[in-house]
Amino acid sequence: MDLSYVGRFAPSPTGPLHAGSLVTALASWLDARAHEGHWLVRIEDVDGPRCVPDATDLILRQLRALGLHPDGEVMVQSQRHRAYAQALDQLVARGWAYPCACSRRDIEQALALAGVSPERHASAVYPGTCRDGLRGRTGRAWRLDVARVLRDLGHGPLVRWTDRRLGPQTQDVAAEVGDFVLRRADGLWAYQLAVVVDDAAQGVSDVVRGADLLDNTARQIVLQQALGLSTPRYLHVPLVLGANGEKLSKQNGALPLDLSDAARCLGDAASRLAQAGWSIDPANPLAASAGGRCAAF
Ligand SMILES: [Zn+2]
Repeated sequence: MDLSYVGRFAPSPTGPLHAGSLVTALASWLDARAHEGHWLVRIEDVDGPRCVPDATDLILRQLRALGLHPDGEVMVQSQRHRAYAQALDQLVARGWAYPCACSRRDIEQALALAGVSPERHASAVYPGTCRDGLRGRTGRAWRLDVARVLRDLGHGPLVRWTDRRLGPQTQDVAAEVGDFVLRRADGLWAYQLAVVVDDAAQGVSDVVRGADLLDNTARQIVLQQALGLSTPRYLHVPLVLGANGEKLSKQNGALPLDLSDAARCLGDAASRLAQAGWSIDPANPLAASAGGRCAAF
C-alpha cells in the first residue's frame, strides 16, 4: 500500500454517469490501484442550480454496481461551506481577494472601452475594475488578485507545471485568465476554490481527470500557493468525444450506462483508454493497468 498516493474521482451530479464520465472514473481508479494507493470520491455539487436531484445517489449506486468502491467517506461539496468561507477569509486577510461589483454588462462595457473586441468577451480577461476598490459600489462577487499573489510570493508571472501525460505546461494566469472569481455574485462558491480546498482536505496526491480541465490547473496552482497548500500531481485523460466532435455529454448523445452488464461497461471504458493511446507500457502503470487488466473485466 502506497499511503502517499491518494487519488479521487469528482463527478458533478448533473445526471447519471455516462460512457465519457466512466472513462475518467476508471482512469483515476486504475491509477490509484496501480499505485496501491487510496481512491476517493467527491461529489462536486457547488453549482447547485446545475445539479439534478437524486443524481448523487444515482452516481454512487452506479459506482457500486461497477465495483469502483471509494476507500473512504464520500465528500460532498454542498456541505463544505465553512471550509470554503475559511479559505476566502484567509485570502482576504492577506489582501489577495477583493470584492467585485461588476455585472456581466459592466465588464463588457469596460472591455469595449479598452478596445477588446466583442467576440472575445466569452473568454475575456476581467479588466480589473474593482481591484483597487469599489468606489461606493456594492460588492457582489469575490475575485483573486492573481498578479499580487504571485508577486507577494516572489514568483514570476508564469505558472509552470508538468502533466503526467502531456508534459510541461505554462500559463500566465494574470494575463490569460485574469482575476478569477472565488465566490460568485449569487453567493455560490466558485469551482476553482472548492476544488483546491477539497483536494487538500482529502489529502489528494494525484488528480486524474478529463482533459477539458487542463486549462484550470494553473489557476488551481495559484490558489494552492496562496492558501499554503501543496500541489498534487496532475494527469489529464483524453476526452471521449461525441459524434459532433465535442466532449461526450448527455446533450450530444451519451447513452446511459447499462449496468446490467457492468463488466462490459468497464471493458468498453478500458478499451477507450487503450484506443486513446494508453498502450501497455511498464513505465506507465496506468497504461499497463488499462491495457493489461481489461480481460479481467
Ligand atoms: Zn468588478
